[in-house]
Amino acid sequence: PLEMGSSSALGEKAHVVCLPAAAQGHINPMLDVAKMLHARGFHITFVNTEYNHARLVHAQGAGAEAGVPGFRFATIPDGMSRSDNNVTHDVQSICKVITEVCLGPFRRLLAELNDPATGHPPVTCIISDVVMDFSMEAARELGLPYVQLWASSAISFVALRHYRLLFDRGLAPIKDFKQLTKEYLDTPVEDVPGLQNMRFRDFPSFIRSVAPDDYMLHFTLGIVERAVGASALIINTFDDLEGEAVAAMEALGLPKVYTIGPLPLLAPSSNISMSLWKQQEECLPWLDDKEPGSVVYVNFGSTTIMTDGQLVEFAWGLAMSGRHFLWIIRPDLVRGVTAVLPPEFSVETAERGLVASWCPQQQVLNHPAVGVFLTHSGWNSTLDSMCGGVPVISWPFFADHQTICRYQCTEWGVGMEIDSNVRRDTVARLITEVMEGQNGKVMKKKAQEWRERAVKATKPGGSSRRNFEELIHEVLAPTP
Ligand code: UDP
Repeated sequence: PLEMGSSSALGEKAHVVCLPAAAQGHINPMLDVAKMLHARGFHITFVNTEYNHARLVHAQGAGAEAGVPGFRFATIPDGMSRSDNNVTHDVQSICKVITEVCLGPFRRLLAELNDPATGHPPVTCIISDVVMDFSMEAARELGLPYVQLWASSAISFVALRHYRLLFDRGLAPIKDFKQLTKEYLDTPVEDVPGLQNMRFRDFPSFIRSVAPDDYMLHFTLGIVERAVGASALIINTFDDLEGEAVAAMEALGLPKVYTIGPLPLLAPSSNISMSLWKQQEECLPWLDDKEPGSVVYVNFGSTTIMTDGQLVEFAWGLAMSGRHFLWIIRPDLVRGVTAVLPPEFSVETAERGLVASWCPQQQVLNHPAVGVFLTHSGWNSTLDSMCGGVPVISWPFFADHQTICRYQCTEWGVGMEIDSNVRRDTVARLITEVMEGQNGKVMKKKAQEWRERAVKATKPGGSSRRNFEELIHEVLAPTP
């Protein structure tokens, strides 16, 4: 990683405002970018929404956002209710409210930051999540360079951008959910620039809407189309992994795309953390006395939800596998109710399972005891598993998960998929197959190869490290 306080303080007089989208999977990569720039001498203002600020303080205690010299936090209102614990599930409402509410407060924040009385350098650049692209207008008004962070994969960007192909070919919009038979979902979609072996089901889930004016469908299409207006795009990926999709993005007339991932390998370690849930550190010592490769790690990220019935199928699948498992169950994992495991399951697996509500995932996936990751295929989790060299069993939920899962299974060779209609015997069978079978050996080897390539990309001379330097010199602190 880059050292904090590195001697080449290129960004000394530069002040970057980082604006992540209001979800854990968006905050983490933005925080890594912010730390990397801070390590190079940039002054950083990291902007959270008020709702997430309150959650952060709740999870980590007051002072969580105190910052360090040259790295400050700020908040803008987001219009979300403080009392509704399920608000984070409602991605559509978050996108809608933020788009409607945040531009005015963001403008005012920039004006405050530019007040010479603060003693900080004036704002010189905005790095905004693509989802928060209301901020493009504020950057334009101040004549500032406007860099966008795409917090997912290049393949999902390209897949969203090519939704129009699905309309042109008559596959979308669907008229009614009954149309989504297995055969329909399996329809091959050929000749999508930058993508291979795609089926209708592998496109980001918003396309499966029956309403032609569906909010999320048009919101996602809108943000990827408007990205042409940015000064540069940064993506948490690396060229070896997604070079073809990145080239396809560049062919779309977008500004220069800088691949600077996996960010967790490049970002300096620091005590600034932005976890919206309290991390249970006891997960790590629990892993310490387990055999190498013997533990199933189960975590569906921050926004996936399931029914009570699906939770029970996963539980009995884990029990039937006979393996040790570390299962992270967020309090809000089950739709509408508090997640409760069957008491008989808890008794039967007490000796071999640890259930917690949030964990330091990157450390868990780097622990030698972990043999397989049962995941929803969120992009950060996907990179975390590659950096740990761990194969996956994927239960994609929504948004980009389907596209990423497809690539994990067919192109990157690191994963196997569980049907959305999850059954306990399938869970147990796939765990056994990945941990004992021939397929599992091949996937494990592939995952370890990806880990080596990821490390190479972030080492001196590697593509992601080079691109990060170029981003600084070409966009963030250009030398005259
Ligand atoms: N994460 C974590 N602890 C957990 C679960 C997740 O630290 O128990 C982190 C993980 O490292 C990743 C992010 O939360 O950075 C989840 O992002 P992802 O894109 O995988 O999924 P999403 O949050 O969008 O569902």
